[in-house]
Amino acid sequence: MTNEKHEIKRILYFCPLCEEKHEIVEISYYDKAIVKSKEVEYLKRSYYCEIENEEFTPDTLMDYNLNEAREIYRKSENLLTSAQIKEIRDLYGLTQKEYANLLGLGDVTIQRYESRSIQDPTYDDLMRLTKENPAYCLELLNKNKEKFENARYEDMKRAIINVIKKNGNLYFVRETLKNAYIEYDKPTEANGYCLLDINKLSGIIHYIAKYVDSLYKVKLMKMLWYVDALSFKTYNKAMSGLVYQHFPLGAVPIAHNEIIKLPSVNVLEEEHPEYTAYKILPNSDFHLYDFTFEELDILQNVIKKFKSFSTQQIVSYMHEEDAYKFTEDNEIISFNYALNMKNFN
Ligand SMILES: [Zn+2]
Repeated sequence: MTNEKHEIKRILYFCPLCEEKHEIVEISYYDKAIVKSKEVEYLKRSYYCEIENEEFTPDTLMDYNLNEAREIYRKSENLLTSAQIKEIRDLYGLTQKEYANLLGLGDVTIQRYESRSIQDPTYDDLMRLTKENPAYCLELLNKNKEKFENARYEDMKRAIINVIKKNGNLYFVRETLKNAYIEYDKPTEANGYCLLDINKLSGIIHYIAKYVDSLYKVKLMKMLWYVDALSFKTYNKAMSGLVYQHFPLGAVPIAHNEIIKLPSVNVLEEEHPEYTAYKILPNSDFHLYDFTFEELDILQNVIKKFKSFSTQQIVSYMHEEDAYKFTEDNEIISFNYALNMKNFN
C-alpha cells in the first residue's frame, strides 16, 4: 500500500481555510491510526484546498475515517465488523435495541458496537453463535421474552423459525466438521500449515461450483486438493486447512461427506442403475467470499486447468502425482509432496 493521494471528486464547499465557498478536492490515501493501542493502516478520506495547498477533515469524514480504522482493527482481530453485526440483525429482522435485548445486553449496546465501540471477544462469540445456530437464538429470545411486547415476540419467533427451516442444519455440519478436524489444531504438513477455515472452504467450493459446469463430487475433491497443493507450492501454505487421505480415486479430504452439505452449494443426487452421482451446483443465495488476490489467482489457475476435465481424466491425472504414487491406502498425504506437483502448463 502506498500513501499516494487520489482524487475522488470535486465539490463546492465552504472552505474553513479561506473562509469562503469554493471548489474543494475530496482525496483518499492510506494512513495509520491507533485503535486499542494497535497500529492499523486504513484508507483515509479528506478534503484539500488547492488555494491554500492544505488538507482539512470535516467532522463527518472524521467519523467515517474513525469507523474505517475500527473496521480494519476488527478484521485483524477476527472480530465481527459493524456491517457483519448488522447482517445478523437483518437475518432475523431485528432492530439494534431488540437484538441487544435478545442477547441480554443493555438497550444501546448494539448501537454502540455498530458505531463507535469495539465488542469484547465474549460478546463477539455470543453474536456469532446467534448467527451460526438459529436454534440458540430462539432459546435466547425465549429466555428474554419478558423484554418484548407479546405481538412483537411472536413475530420475532416466527422470523427465527424461518431461518431455522432455511439453514438450521449448517450449525450441525460445522460442528461435525470441527470435530472431524479436532486433532489437526496445529499447522503441520498434514494441513499445509493452515488451520481449517470453514467459511473460506465454503467460499472455495462455491467459487469452483460457480465456474465449472459439469462438477461432480469426485472431481470437486480433486480440485480442492489442487487448490491447496498449488497454494502450498506457491506460498508454502494451503488455503482451506483440509487434510487429505490417499483413496483409490486420489486425494480425498477427511469428512468429505459433510463438506458437500455446506450451504454454499446445492447437491443434486442423480440416480444411475449402478450408483448415485452427486452433482454440485452453486447456491445462488450465497455471497462470493472475500478472497485475496493471491487466493483468487490460485483458484483461477486450478479452474482453468481442470474446467473441461472429466472426473475420470482428473483422477488419472492425480494418479501420476507423487502425492498419490508415494503414499499408501488411507495414508494422510503430506503437503510436502505438493512441492513436486506437476506443472500446470
Ligand atoms: Zn480554501
